[in-house]
Amino acid sequence: MSNKTLAILKPDCLNRNLTGKAIDFILDKGFKIKAMKLMNLTKVEVEGFYAIHKGKPFYDELIEYMSSGPCIPMVLEKENAVENFREVIGATDPREAAENTLRSLYAKSTQRNTVHGSDSEENAQKEIAFFFPLKEIITCQ
Ligand code: UDP
Ligand code: MG
Repeated sequence: MSNKTLAILKPDCLNRNLTGKAIDFILDKGFKIKAMKLMNLTKVEVEGFYAIHKGKPFYDELIEYMSSGPCIPMVLEKENAVENFREVIGATDPREAAENTLRSLYAKSTQRNTVHGSDSEENAQKEIAFFFPLKEIITCQ
């Protein structure tokens, strides 16, 4: 079982100055940040990242939204990181997210749901590689 997952603080997180709160929350839950960067994603990059959703009714707006402002992808490490981080962020629709999850606390809508977390080991590996070459991922400490 891999101990890493990919998180993204989405544009609404940064726009509403929630970056510090979100990072604190993640660290408090016991995750270690192994890589992190601030970036503007192009539409082509977002299309690549969310290719799995191509053709779905929300796809075009999702591409617009995710390329509308800066975001922060990060590699997080913890035992059982993928499953554990999905618990920490809560359901896709913040109205359905469990109490004291990042999305229940901060997200304003299903689209602008503040944070991304990989949904499987396989996708975590692909998503980490999408953003970070190996040399950008901290291996010690
Ligand atoms: N999304 C949306 N409308 C929907 C479902 C999803 O705008 O009905 C957006 C939302 O930002 C979500 C992303 O598309 O986080 C990817 O959807 P997915 O089903 O993979 O949800 P997640 O894995 O992020 O919980
Ligand atoms: Mg997903």
